[in-house]
Parts: sequence; C-alpha cells; structure tokens
Amino acid sequence: MKLIPLPAFTDNYIWMLHDGQQALVVDPGDAQPVLNALQHAGLQLKAILVTHHHPDHTAGVAALREATGATVYGPQREAMPEPLTRLGQGDAVSNLGLRFEVIEVPGHTAGHIAYYCAEVDGTPLLFCGDTLFCAGCGRLFEGSPAQMLASLDTLAALPDTTQICCAHEYTLSNLKFAGTVEPGNAALTDYTATAHALRAAQQPTLPSSMLRERRINPFLRSREPAVIEAVRRFDTSAADAVSVFAALRQWKNEFR
Ligand code: ZN
Ligand code: FE
Repeated sequence: MKLIPLPAFTDNYIWMLHDGQQALVVDPGDAQPVLNALQHAGLQLKAILVTHHHPDHTAGVAALREATGATVYGPQREAMPEPLTRLGQGDAVSNLGLRFEVIEVPGHTAGHIAYYCAEVDGTPLLFCGDTLFCAGCGRLFEGSPAQMLASLDTLAALPDTTQICCAHEYTLSNLKFAGTVEPGNAALTDYTATAHALRAAQQPTLPSSMLRERRINPFLRSREPAVIEAVRRFDTSAADAVSVFAALRQWKNEFR
C-alpha cells in the first residue's frame, strides 16, 4: 500500500491510499489534485472517506463521485453532499482489502468522525481530519472542551506506532505554541528541529505517530504537571482537567 498526502489549497492534505490499482481518498476538498494523481498512476478510485462537513474537506466529493463512481462515506450527524453512506461509532468501512473502524470524535465539529485501520502493511493508520494535528488540535467550532478532551483521550489510547494522517500542515505554527507551553520538553525541541528541516526541504511533516504526539502535543499532555503549571499562568482559574484543557485551547486561539 502507498500512502500519499496530496497538497490542496494553502495547507490541506487530501490523503490517498492505493495498492497500484485501486485507491481511496480522505477529505477531498478539491477534486483536481485527486484526478491528477489517479490519472498519473493509472488508479481507479473506489472510496471517498469524509471526516466532517467543512468545505475544505467536502467540496471535491461530488465531482469525484461523478467522475469515478466511488462510494462516499461520511459522518452520521452532519450536513453532507448526498448520496453517501453515513457512519457512526462502531461502524466499519471495508475497502481495498482494509477494514477501517469509525471513531466518533466530536469537538472541532459536532459530528466529526475518524477512521482507524489496525493494520496497513503491519502498521496501524488513523485518518483524523481536523481533530488531532501534529503538536496541536482542531479549533472548537461546534463542540465543547469536554467533548474534544474525551475525543483526544480516545485517539491517544491507540498504539504508539499508529500513523497519524492529519488534514492540515499546521505543524510549525503548532510547535511554536507547544514550545511556549513546554520549553523544557526535550522531545519537543528535538522534533521542532526535524520539522523545520522537513519544511525547508518542502517535505510534509506528516504522517506523525501516536508515540510522538504523546511526547510533544500539549493537547495530549494537558494533565502533565508542566503543562498545567504553564496554563495556570495564562488562566489562574483553570482547575480540573476540562478547565485546564479549555484554557490551553483558548491560549492557543490567542497565540501569535
Ligand atoms: Zn474543519
Ligand atoms: Fe480543515
């Protein structure tokens, strides 16, 4: 299997997985990069997986379905371009000989879902849309801090080796904030140097891994004493896990 991030717009990635003949894509906000990739490699598009309703993840769906006849999958509870197969917690998608489990991860949007495959050529794989980013998480447009914290806790329980396929290249700006929250985190300092080198060479920083995210991502580390201490300097009223997470997210929203 080949896993390819197709760049779209300014900082989106449309993830493509293919076996040399058949392909699936995740969150095609634009049809053209996908059509180009299909034609270039001589692939047939079998499935379109959508994580949430935002246009930068859905605007290419209709054109791709019409051009290829691919089956479209998406969240149960969001306004989506019809027709599609709607999925919720515990459902699964079987395509290209792979089985993707659906995990509901509300927070960025109310009905956001993620797709997890326990084994792609021996490695677990997660398509998480705008829920988890390298060193960051999605903005809370529709969900509550408690919902997003629970969603990230669910994802953080996936295996260390899970390849994390996020829908945006936000890594460097996220790392700048993470370094402000946890200046003493050596793994974070190390990875920041790696990420800068990748971007300087115009390479994607993704996929990330769950082990890396647990080590460097402040939004997966909001119960760490160093993170709690930093958050309380920003918002002295932050007390329990949810209010610390909420204050951390608010701090990031205001961070430049
Ligand atoms: Zn979004
Ligand atoms: Fe997005």
